[in-house]
Amino acid sequence: MISTSALKVLYQLKDAGYQAFLVGGCVRDIVIGMEPKDFDVATNASPEEVRRLFRNCRLIGRRFRLAHVRFGHQIVEVATFRAAGDPIVPDADEPDDTDDEPAPEPPDDDRVHDDTGRLLRDNRYGTVDQDVWRRDFTCNALYYNIEDYSIWDYVGGVADVKSRTLRLIGDPETRYREDPVRMLRAIRFQAKLGFTIHEGTREPIKRLAMLLEQIPPARLLDEFQKLFLAGFGQRAFELLMEHGLLEQLFPATAAWLAEDPDGMAARLIRAGLANTDQRVQEDRPVTPMFLFAVLLFGPISAAAQRRFEAGSQAGQAIAEAAEEVVAEQNRRIGIPKRFSIPMREILALQPRFHRREGRRALAFISHPRFRAAYDFLVLRAEAGGEDPQIARWWTELQELPQEEQETRVGADKSHSGQPAGTGGRRRRRGGRGRRAPKTES
Ligand code: ATP
Ligand code: MG
Repeated sequence: MISTSALKVLYQLKDAGYQAFLVGGCVRDIVIGMEPKDFDVATNASPEEVRRLFRNCRLIGRRFRLAHVRFGHQIVEVATFRAAGDPIVPDADEPDDTDDEPAPEPPDDDRVHDDTGRLLRDNRYGTVDQDVWRRDFTCNALYYNIEDYSIWDYVGGVADVKSRTLRLIGDPETRYREDPVRMLRAIRFQAKLGFTIHEGTREPIKRLAMLLEQIPPARLLDEFQKLFLAGFGQRAFELLMEHGLLEQLFPATAAWLAEDPDGMAARLIRAGLANTDQRVQEDRPVTPMFLFAVLLFGPISAAAQRRFEAGSQAGQAIAEAAEEVVAEQNRRIGIPKRFSIPMREILALQPRFHRREGRRALAFISHPRFRAAYDFLVLRAEAGGEDPQIARWWTELQELPQEEQETRVGADKSHSGQPAGTGGRRRRRGGRGRRAPKTES
């Protein structure tokens, strides 16, 4: 189960006289018989020594230097042993390319905590029996030694993997304070691996959940994607709610769900997550954009309703409400514009599905966002948030041959005076509401 790229890195390090271990999730996955998705290597070679050894290597991270050795699309991450407890991953908001920077010398005492105990910096190199203590869970702290094919286990990790237990190394509260993202990691591994969180590791989560406020939105976006786009999003969502973590990641959504736990928005979220999980199983592409739409739909439609009642046109009310909710959401999870812009668009297009006659209905099918907007409509219908007949009508329309499509919408009879192109152009501007549509049912 070890990829050839990972083996090459391990043997090249070993042949150059360094220690080289596979470490972390890949060893854990192999022990339980799961195919690892990526490989991490730990070594006593410094990042600069690693770089000298591999042509296809670059160093990343400023405060925390790591070597990335690239083989085609595969990257093997090589980390030098560190001395003590550390977030291990470079900060998500750190520039990813610092290859030309001079290497910082590991200072004598470079460990910095903030006043809540969060570990801000650690740049001391160490040995394998020091490195192990800074890892998060015992199951993630196994070292596979290429030298004699043994697993080095300082923390009872093999036993925990075998009994499927997630247990933080050391004092759980201290470890969560050092890096609150470990709470999300616990949920992720529970959802992904079906492990049980050990009592001592589980108990502090609710109490310390608010520490996630300190985490940069870019790092939370990373975690969000790992939680929701890897095929176990439904389970992750239920677990986040159960542990009081959803309100940290999606405050508006959590508040909304608290009021109406079995309502339409909750059903929409579950249907959306099930749909995404299914697509991952089938190796079809998935986008966070769609999940943001699903997760934020409740708060956005409430805000849109207020605007609509105050007289705004439906599409515009939704677009503005989405902007407001996304701005608030960005303080927690930074939603990049490449996701938030199309998300707003597919939400604002929803009222268009009510217009089912004329050439404009037909032209809608070739709108660049039609497919995504339609998928969202189907999900809303499934969740009971839209008349299922409307979704069915659009499904059938797409399946008809073109002449029959025209008959269905009656487009062949109407629109005597209007050139075909203008409908299209006006439609694209419609979202911004410059011109109120004449018929909106
Ligand atoms: P996955 O299967 O999702 O890749 P993983 O365990 O490999 O899971 P990574 O995020 O790839 O997780 O991290 C690799 C290893 O680095 C972990 O197994 C763990 O030993 C260590 N690690 C990662 N993040 C942290 C953290 N926040 N705190 C402590 N150790 C961490
Ligand atoms: Mg990994």
